[in-house]
Amino acid sequence: RAGAEEFTFQAEVNRLMDIIIHSLYSNKDIFLRELISNASDALDKIRFLSLTDKEQLGTGETSQLEIKIWLDPETKTLNIRDRGIGMTKDDLIKNLGTIAKSGTSAFLEQMQKGGDMNLIGQFGVGFYSVYLVSDYVEVISKHNDDTQYIWASTADGSFSISEDKENEPLGRGTLIKIHLKDEAQEYASEGKLKELVHRYSEFINFPIYLQTEKEVDVPVEEEEAKEEAKEEEGEEEEDEEGAEDAEEETKEEEKPKATRKEKRKEWDLLNDNKAIWLRKPSEVTEEEYQKFYKAVSKDYTDALNYSHFRAEGDVEFRSILYIPSIAAYDFYDKYYEKAQHGLKLYVRRVFISDDMKELIPRYLSFVKGIVDSDTLPLNVSREMLQQEAALKTIKKKVVRKVLDMIRKMAETEVKCKAMEEKGETEDKPSEKDCGQYGKFWEQFGRAIKLGIIEDSTNRNRLAKLLRFHTSKSGDKLTTLDEYIGRMKEGQKNIYYLAGTSKEEVAASPFVEQLLKKGYEVIFFTDVLDEYVMGHLLDYDDKKFANASKEDLKLTDKDEVEKKKDKELKESFKDLTKWWKKVADDKNLQNVKVSSRLATTPCVVVTGKYGNSANMERIMRAQAF
Ligand code: ADP
Ligand code: MG
Repeated sequence: RAGAEEFTFQAEVNRLMDIIIHSLYSNKDIFLRELISNASDALDKIRFLSLTDKEQLGTGETSQLEIKIWLDPETKTLNIRDRGIGMTKDDLIKNLGTIAKSGTSAFLEQMQKGGDMNLIGQFGVGFYSVYLVSDYVEVISKHNDDTQYIWASTADGSFSISEDKENEPLGRGTLIKIHLKDEAQEYASEGKLKELVHRYSEFINFPIYLQTEKEVDVPVEEEEAKEEAKEEEGEEEEDEEGAEDAEEETKEEEKPKATRKEKRKEWDLLNDNKAIWLRKPSEVTEEEYQKFYKAVSKDYTDALNYSHFRAEGDVEFRSILYIPSIAAYDFYDKYYEKAQHGLKLYVRRVFISDDMKELIPRYLSFVKGIVDSDTLPLNVSREMLQQEAALKTIKKKVVRKVLDMIRKMAETEVKCKAMEEKGETEDKPSEKDCGQYGKFWEQFGRAIKLGIIEDSTNRNRLAKLLRFHTSKSGDKLTTLDEYIGRMKEGQKNIYYLAGTSKEEVAASPFVEQLLKKGYEVIFFTDVLDEYVMGHLLDYDDKKFANASKEDLKLTDKDEVEKKKDKELKESFKDLTKWWKKVADDKNLQNVKVSSRLATTPCVVVTGKYGNSANMERIMRAQAF
């Protein structure tokens, strides 16, 4: 194109495109889902802007918030256009090629490990999936603040940007022209496109239209009249064959009036864009919930669990909350840096934000879904909205719902386990329900632990959800309640020891005496566990006791033992004094005769208020 400017893709983007365009990945379908999801995001953005500035929406067709898809046999292209916010020249350069997102390298890494291309949307690079089906893509875009531009690339390391002098004015929004590869001609089919929209994009909250060619019966008289008119204009006659066929057919059917077939182009509405959350839960199928989940989450595996409810009272809202089956790739890595909020806030059906810290606490930000409130004001800025007192109420209710959902899964698991131990089968929950919490814990157990650290209000509720191994649990995980159920008579403390592995902790001198006396000891082996215990001091009136700390007291000593302790202390007095003196280390606080060991001669313990050795190790490694 004359006057086009050339840009090179940022190195990682370039590598990504190279992988995509040469990919043998068979499920190329996903490109359509990604492009429609981008169109929907762009529509959400303009609708949001128009709340405070009506002018932004434009007039006439431009104000119609819709997505249109059509095939153009002449240029052999598949076209997707939205009337969303559009992109300025600068946006095109930055968003589509020169700035790599954090997800770009993460996705490359995943792909190298044989990860699934399907995940591309989660990494924030979904646009490039269009090169699964195309070797030449044009993005034509018009933003309110700029003129219309064409971005074009054959994925050969560079892209061009030029002012658009060839296409129709878009008014506002983006048109993606996809020149389909020979191997991807299956997408040049209305049937295929319809199927894909239905499968992946049914719950997009804007109407999606597909241009279809239909044969319609046209009465002959009307047609003749038209043709006369055409002849006057000197146009050629068309569809002669069609006309003959039609006449034959009408003879067979013996219709009173002669008709003929004509091909007409129409816009078919493909999705039911009525908000699913407005429907009654009893009228929504499991399949629909899972489809909607994929539309809101960019995930492609089914959600593990969900809850659809309506909150009433001072603050009214509707919500569908989903717990994913798998934690997002950067949920823990980026925990403190990037608040990933999968929960979308709508006000009266209008999307406002998916970045509202005020909606859900960080440790639960793995939850996806929507909250739609009629109570919140619609025409205020995001900043003002964040100040709304109603948001606090919503957050509280959302947290309660999520914790309820998790608690129920956890209770089912415990119930199943108890039934299995007793060999009961009657009314036993399904295998799927029994296994649900195990899956949850594997993915989000650490989020629960972070919750214990961060959410003091729900600390006890969260503690109930903890799972861990103990000296008595064998291969199975156990709970605090189960531990308490097994406590020895007179036992006041819940004993635990933290370390790097179950085996190491079990063999530690710190627990020798405890185990010998038959006390159960919790083995904490996750780096987070000791931080958690720093916040969880007791549970159900029982104090937690760290076996590696100085003040560990065994509660079942009798008088004889106590007397013996005293004698020993006396007789070793000289030794302990001498030891403390020769050690001459300011970190050494004391040397004592101890009764905590069974076979090990001596052990270094931590003061009551000091960091345990394990904690020191963690802090040194800065593991979390
Ligand atoms: P993501 O959607 O996760 O941000 P994508 O790779 O799908 O990642 O898109 C990259 C960016 O390109 C988007 O964030 C957006 O800024 C821009 N973009 C893509 N498609 C459109 C569109 N149809 N309208 C406006 N902007 C778009
Ligand atoms: Mg996208």
